[in-house]
Amino acid sequence: MRHPRRRRPRLAEETLPPGAASRHGSAPEAIDRGCVEPSVVDGTMALCPEAGRIIERIVRSGFTAFLCGGCVRDLLLGGRPKDFDIVTSATPRQVKRLFRNSRIIGRRFRLVHVTFPDKVLEVSTFRSALEPAEGQDLLIYQDNTFGTPPEDAFRRDFTVNGLFYDMESQRVIDFVDGLRDLKRRTIETIGDPWVRFREDPVRMLRAIKFASRLNFMLADDVYEALVDCRGELRKAAAPRLLEEILRLMNLGGARDASRLLLRTGLMEDLCPELHDVLERWANRDDRSAWDNWWNLLASFDAAVTAGEPVSNPRLFSVFFAPLYEREITDGPPRGHTLDIEDALSPVAARLRMARKDTYRIRQMFHAQKRFVARAAGRKRLSPQLLSRDWFEDAWFLFRLRAESEGGSIREDAAWWQETLEAEEFARHDLPGRDDR
Ligand code: ATP
Ligand code: MG
Repeated sequence: MRHPRRRRPRLAEETLPPGAASRHGSAPEAIDRGCVEPSVVDGTMALCPEAGRIIERIVRSGFTAFLCGGCVRDLLLGGRPKDFDIVTSATPRQVKRLFRNSRIIGRRFRLVHVTFPDKVLEVSTFRSALEPAEGQDLLIYQDNTFGTPPEDAFRRDFTVNGLFYDMESQRVIDFVDGLRDLKRRTIETIGDPWVRFREDPVRMLRAIKFASRLNFMLADDVYEALVDCRGELRKAAAPRLLEEILRLMNLGGARDASRLLLRTGLMEDLCPELHDVLERWANRDDRSAWDNWWNLLASFDAAVTAGEPVSNPRLFSVFFAPLYEREITDGPPRGHTLDIEDALSPVAARLRMARKDTYRIRQMFHAQKRFVARAAGRKRLSPQLLSRDWFEDAWFLFRLRAESEGGSIREDAAWWQETLEAEEFARHDLPGRDDR
């Protein structure tokens, strides 16, 4: 464990780089350190031509409009963006007037959704550093919330997320040294990380998400600030935390993200129950349980990368698997799900997990010993069992456990696989599973 160097947390004004707007609104200098990057146009037109068309129409109407955020970052890295976001000098109302298929959403900060048959694109107006406080009347303060391109860039979280792309000139517009950090493959906050993490603790999980997903380094001060500010995480709203756990686990970086959560100490604040089990394993040196979980995360990453469908229950069942250790390892299958409920309940309540998800997770874990018992008895599979609505999710978990734990469970899974194939109950064409 590293020992963080303590620093005096700085005020937001002090953290803004030269040229950025202060909170009191002096005009920022527009520094364009960008470069010509035609591959972003090609990528956008291939993957999301609608974004190109939206930008073109806004620009033809006399406004500025850029691609922004994750799509610029991912295209510059040669990746495939999850979504394409657009930022413009036009106000939400002006954007709405340009697109019949659009509507204004959001209360605190309004933006426009432009809807297509298979996707929705988000168009937001450049924002200033000054945001209306909760409960303030947007009609009075809304002029203050709109800003300039550099102001908008500086209020974003990480330098690699603060890049704009101008489709017309094919230039990256970089106010925040995001290009430098993309090349260094480093996650840097825009401004002082101690301030930025205190302003919004969820950014700490985002730092870990981007580092693990993109395989980037955390800058030294970002790492230190994560360690120092981790307690702030308890102040974040539960739905945002839950959303970020889902995103941490998605897209193939679950193992690395979990490792960073533990190493920085954030795991203890995010989920003390999980942290306690892991610590117990480490202390009593339960090497096999410990290894099994890391292997399970790696198998999950491999499944995601291979394109297997991952639902919330699948993802949570892997992340929270240590909470279910008794259910998996102790004694014969139980006739009820009380133990599972006990382990998950406090976590589910605190993070406000959906009831249907927690119910499904319990079913998945409850089924684990049934898989073993049936394999041991080499019993025929009943169509009734296979048509249960939880079957595919439970089988997914069993397969991943077999891969990661090895030993007898791998033999059991092989028997299941063979039997399922032989009985033509292959996973993808199981009969309707509406019973529950
Ligand atoms: P992903 O690929 O996961 O969608 P993303 O970078 O697009 O990554 P989003 O959550 O979609 O992330 O947010 C879009 C952009 O909005 C980010 O790139 C960043 O510039 C900005 N942003 C999002 N959340 C925050 C935050 N908490 N604080 C500051 N800026 C943020
Ligand atoms: Mg995004």
